[in-house]
Amino acid sequence: MAKEQSTEQIDPSMPDWSAYRGVLIVVEQREGIAKKVSWQLLGEGKKLAAKLEAPLMALVLGENVAHLAEEAVHYGADRVYLCEAPELRDYRTRPYSRVCLKLIEDAKPEIVLFGATATGRDLAGAIATHLPTGLTADTTQLDVEPHPSRLLLASRPAFSEKMMATILCKQYRPQMATARAGVFQALPKDAARQGEIVRIEATMREEEIDAQVLEFLRETGKLNLEECEIIVAGGRGLGGPDAFGLLAELADALGGVVGASRAAVDAGWISHEHQVGQTGATVRPKLYFAIGISGAVQHTVGMSNADVVVAINRDENAPIFQFAHYGLVGDLFKIVPAITAEFKKRRT
Ligand code: FAD
Repeated sequence: MAKEQSTEQIDPSMPDWSAYRGVLIVVEQREGIAKKVSWQLLGEGKKLAAKLEAPLMALVLGENVAHLAEEAVHYGADRVYLCEAPELRDYRTRPYSRVCLKLIEDAKPEIVLFGATATGRDLAGAIATHLPTGLTADTTQLDVEPHPSRLLLASRPAFSEKMMATILCKQYRPQMATARAGVFQALPKDAARQGEIVRIEATMREEEIDAQVLEFLRETGKLNLEECEIIVAGGRGLGGPDAFGLLAELADALGGVVGASRAAVDAGWISHEHQVGQTGATVRPKLYFAIGISGAVQHTVGMSNADVVVAINRDENAPIFQFAHYGLVGDLFKIVPAITAEFKKRRT
């Protein structure tokens, strides 16, 4: 402790933040199922916490979500704060942000991370407006400077995605960031892992909450590429929108979904929600087919973390083959139907 105080006083212009220690991941869940990004952030948070020699903490909020606190321990958290209340059943900004603010005040984490999902962005933004600190949105790389500065190095694409900017929050704590899904890797789940679970109280009663959730209307057909395990992606090599039908058949046969390069999206052959890459989704599926996609860096940055990549391209020198575990050189219009037929045969 004495060592920490003396080193932190090296720069007298810096406030004394020595009470703030540890990395806190806010776990996002819906209907008791955690978003994968939460476990991915625990994986990355573990590295940051190790460099800082500080604990990795998680916050789980909701109703009947105690199982997620256990799961957070299995995915690497040393301590999980669990807040269960009927008022927290569905996500609402005010009751959720109040719990987070109280915990940040009490537990004093030096870093707080949220998934850059619709909910994570809303929650992190609401919290940042109440705290005298900054928030770096949509980060794709995280690192820390070790003691004594203990600064979070939060990097994200900037200037129309042409550069990476690393953003620091030097004067205030906690340092907060939202991080893109699919970029970081979750640790393998270890069901034998032990950790501390601390129950905390919700801070708002129903009558104090101005927003009510009346009903959830599921958007049918809404694609969430980040959560998909099998993606069959097509690019300009498809030559037009019709060939996406071939990819859909293969995706159906495998129980997967269709993805696309920006060239295919810009050509109007398929909608933007299918786009993988720097200005689309960052994905981490078990299996990724890149069909008629050359492998530009702006595409591969979004899919190179797939467990297995199969590339189909008629150009044997296409850069995509550098990322492929299996490469098929040839005409996609011959290869894709043949693969689909084979998978269909195996299913029957
Ligand atoms: P191409 O590069 O034209 O490749 C088509 C491939 O199809 C070729 O390799 C060709 O050999 C092959 N082919 C053709 N016919 C056949 C056939 N019959 N059988 C088999 N193979 C065939 N791109 C993204 O994908 N995602 C992004 O998020 C993204 N963001 C960007 C952001 C910025 C700021 C910029 C500047 C660019 C971005 N791009 C992005 C665009 C990127 O640079 C490439 O232009 C794009 O990925 C190319 O798409 P493609 O591979 O489908 O097309």
